[in-house]
Amino acid sequence: MCGIPSGVTIRAAARSEGGNVMCSPLVMEKVQAAITRRRLFGLAGATGAAVVLAPMGGAQRLAALQDGTPPGEPTVGATVEPTVGATVEPTVGATAEPTTGVITGPVATPAATPVGPSAIAVCTFANVQDLTHTASPDFPMFPGAQQMQINVLFSFEAGDIFYKNELILDEHTGTHMDAPAHFDENGVSADRLPVERLLAPLAVIDISARVATDEDAQLMPEDILAWEAQFGPLPGGAFVAMHSGWASRVNDRERYINLDASDTQHYPGFHPDATALLVEERNIVGIGVDTASLDFGPSTDFETHITALSAGKYGLENLANLSLVPASGATLVVGGPKHRNASGGPTRALALY
Ligand SMILES: [Zn+2]
Repeated sequence: MCGIPSGVTIRAAARSEGGNVMCSPLVMEKVQAAITRRRLFGLAGATGAAVVLAPMGGAQRLAALQDGTPPGEPTVGATVEPTVGATVEPTVGATAEPTTGVITGPVATPAATPVGPSAIAVCTFANVQDLTHTASPDFPMFPGAQQMQINVLFSFEAGDIFYKNELILDEHTGTHMDAPAHFDENGVSADRLPVERLLAPLAVIDISARVATDEDAQLMPEDILAWEAQFGPLPGGAFVAMHSGWASRVNDRERYINLDASDTQHYPGFHPDATALLVEERNIVGIGVDTASLDFGPSTDFETHITALSAGKYGLENLANLSLVPASGATLVVGGPKHRNASGGPTRALALY
């Protein structure tokens, strides 16, 4: 349960489906630490930032509380602590004005699915890590899917007074979401996913050591239990990501899709038993991989896809930079697709910690 630091103005809140506020205890410890730090340093040049999730429905907002930015800015602020981490550039949605205030701003139109009553969630972060690969016509697609096209419609080089492109792309291009509708005919499409599921405590499970000797290694139930033994129970509303180390191959399609002589793919994924454990015995919003598919490469029945998506969870595929974020304690922000009846779509995924 998130606490409310004294002296902090709370505008609103959101509560996840299961009633668990979407800040992990670790994150909340960071809140307290940041507040304490600010007091210690007299608020000047304060570090860290806070995100407040505002009431859903009529006043759906994402508000960032920050000792440093005037009210009314429609952006989420992130104050970068130069000595922590090495991943944030102030230009990536971050602000650093050392004034005080509350930032509020609409981030989405009301969800198609009504959400529950208000609650409070406050998360601090000092780092923003981009978990997104750059999509391009060269991005390694799942076999059979069309490569993306970027067609320049207007350009300065051509003498136009503005620049824009036309995109032609498979929904499942680059770092992207698999919505429940992708494998469940009654499943919700990405545009209708309740927005509170797009912010989640991020659990990163590292199986890269096994993958080094087994390209078909899978994230097993024991890996989840081992993570929990180290970091505690998965927080409610968590998003569980598999870090296999595969992202290092993304610029080499041959090694990323890794077909053998019989055109079978070889890369890691979630084992269906691990997926079933997460879906049936934990409270998660989704699962993600740093490979081209939630299922491991050789899968022909896509049982992990079916298990996760038919339970209303979403997937993220081709995630980047999972090696750079903490295994526990980060908050995932999913800028998911919102075109009508989306089976999925290119997604900007960020980790805040
Ligand atoms: Zn997909």
